[in-house]
Amino acid sequence: MSAQQPNKIPVQQVDLNAEKKRVHPRFVTGFYQNIRVITMYALLAAFLILPWLRYNGRQAIWFDVPSQHYYIFGLTFLTQDFYFIAAFAIISAFTLFMVTVYAGRVWCGYACPQTIWTHLYQYVEKWVIGDRNKRIKFDKSPMSATKVFKRFLIYFIWFVLSVITAATFVSYVAGTDFMYGSWQMIGFVPFPDWPTWVWVSMFIFTFATYANAGYMREQMCVQICPYGRFQSVMFDKDTLIVSYDYERGEPRGPRKKGTNPEHLGDCIECTMCVQVCPTGIDIRDGLQVACIQCAACVDACNEIMDKVGYPRGLIRYTTERQLVENEPSRVFRPRLFAYLAVLTLLCGGLLYTLIGRVPLEIDIRRDRNQLSSINREGMIENSYIVKLTNKTQDEHTYRITLEPQDGLSLQLRFNDVPLLAGESFDMPVSIYGDPDVVASGQTPIVLTVTSEDGKYKVSKQNVFTTQGQ
Ligand code: SF4
Ligand code: SF4
Repeated sequence: MSAQQPNKIPVQQVDLNAEKKRVHPRFVTGFYQNIRVITMYALLAAFLILPWLRYNGRQAIWFDVPSQHYYIFGLTFLTQDFYFIAAFAIISAFTLFMVTVYAGRVWCGYACPQTIWTHLYQYVEKWVIGDRNKRIKFDKSPMSATKVFKRFLIYFIWFVLSVITAATFVSYVAGTDFMYGSWQMIGFVPFPDWPTWVWVSMFIFTFATYANAGYMREQMCVQICPYGRFQSVMFDKDTLIVSYDYERGEPRGPRKKGTNPEHLGDCIECTMCVQVCPTGIDIRDGLQVACIQCAACVDACNEIMDKVGYPRGLIRYTTERQLVENEPSRVFRPRLFAYLAVLTLLCGGLLYTLIGRVPLEIDIRRDRNQLSSINREGMIENSYIVKLTNKTQDEHTYRITLEPQDGLSLQLRFNDVPLLAGESFDMPVSIYGDPDVVASGQTPIVLTVTSEDGKYKVSKQNVFTTQGQ
């Protein structure tokens, strides 16, 4: 016997006032959990290893905020290149929207740092105490020396993991050389010789990691994370979701092994799907904000179905169209194409700008105190400051030239400006105008900066003025 499938997958609202119980998920293995664990630990490893990579003798990914230089392998960005970061953030957001429309909360279940760190911290509890039942029993047990020791051990490992996380985070900004190279001895104890901002960052990140992964856990997803809330707007009938097959499973109920009573559906009410859920919900209640779509319940239920000899997939990845309307899901749909089109445009634009970008920046500022003056030879003089920034990862020597114009000549304090990678220099520049040749008022001028090998060349316009004499 099977129950009538509701004409819509029920949506369970969050009860923000409900009593918060500590969730002790049972660890489960299976197809999706294997993918999930591999993905999570690969991302974790990437996070830990990336700051140690070197490129051209420098940290390959380094957001050097104090000097306002940001390095990503061969690219150097300055604060004025902020639009690249903004473009990258917009592209990331659009990618997330597109993935959500197609595959639901795959980000939450497989790649979100909150999920990864929570899994890691829960794994520590499992390692020290044991799986779910032992952890629940341990929580309820009276205080004893063993309990204190195990609790202390868990907190200590969590703390070490939080410090490693914080140190890695800060390494992306302070640089690994600085983070791990500046130590001093206090007595016999080596102590990092960090400035205040590094200590403050370390404290904030350690605290945030410990609190989020150790205590907040699923509450972050349910109460704080905005993505969990607004994604319901992005879902459509063809979005991939983890769902319980109500029609097949109901009425649920226990039964004797090897039997398949007529009056019951396939759910044997073993509660295994609830026990493995890292957010402590029951997927059989319908779609919920707390469901991060990790598919642990899919693997757990499949295992049970194998044991009782029923077909797999009572809980499965499906779509509302498939489950409720019994129709095949549509992979290609207008919404997806719209996201894809915007994404292609954005990525194309960013790539085009990155490829065409000259890693040399010039900025011309006029001497504001005096627009122009007359020198001893009777020539009109305009003064400027040309700020040169070498945005390459090598040392270069630059030369400034003036686009030839009748009556105008350039005078430089130095002919060549050698600049180290990422270095800037304010170069005083004077342009002289012959009053008999140069038209009165403002004359457009063009200054060009060229690297010694001619590889990098940037021109900028300004004006020569005869006013203010
Ligand atoms: S794991 Fe499957 S059979 Fe067991 S309670 Fe959940 S849905 Fe029912
Ligand atoms: S209900 Fe299932 S998919 Fe959702 S969070 Fe719980 S275990 Fe993961």
